[in-house]
Amino acid sequence: MFGPPGSGKGTQAKYLKDSLGIAHISTGDMLRDRLAHEEGLSEKVAALMRAGGLVPDEAVNEMVAERTTQPDCDDGFILDGYPRTVPQAKLLLRMLPRLEVTPVVIHLEVDYDVIIKRLSSRRQCPVCGALYGAEANAPRVPGICGLDGTRLEGREDDRPDVIRDRLEAYEKKTAPVLSILREAGYPCFDIRGGDAPERIAAGIEGLVEAELSKAA
Ligand code: AMP
Repeated sequence: MFGPPGSGKGTQAKYLKDSLGIAHISTGDMLRDRLAHEEGLSEKVAALMRAGGLVPDEAVNEMVAERTTQPDCDDGFILDGYPRTVPQAKLLLRMLPRLEVTPVVIHLEVDYDVIIKRLSSRRQCPVCGALYGAEANAPRVPGICGLDGTRLEGREDDRPDVIRDRLEAYEKKTAPVLSILREAGYPCFDIRGGDAPERIAAGIEGLVEAELSKAA
């Protein structure tokens, strides 16, 4: 699941996880979880994340390589927020043949002014990680997670100045990853955002299932 921060990767990955019944690997969620539990992440990494910068490749690569060996990834997995740099993409290209999965790239395209508006108003459940928007996917009870009743919080890196830094990091370091994935011959679909999330999800599901049945 590829695209700038705020393009809906996490939301779409969750729909796809439910429809395909495969694991959802969000490197952002994994890193936030490790920070919350103070597991193996330095204050330097925490500060980088708060400032909207990228965590060093080595730490993220190791985390993903380990995660993909877990049993819930046996039937495949959705990568959300990874690869985000050229070295990460190169590692993934070496790793995927060993994992015997069918790669499909979903590229979500959303205008930056829409992203800035969307991210500065979104809220997240600090317990289960569910994300809520102000309009699409708004919580049924304002400010409360519909899944576990926890009070929602704004993410520290969703402040307007940090959002701009995250978009800049995306342009400089992540956007070039897309050509690497295309050049590797992976089927790559550009999906324009703006439609209702569930309608976008149905479209993505159809595309992915078609690719999977071609490969079967
Ligand atoms: P996300 O929830 O995907 O927007 O990720 C939140 C933050 O986690 C990012 O702004 C980065 O600081 C860090 N992060 C997540 N995934 C990666 C990655 N693949 N490489 C480097 N940093 C990452």
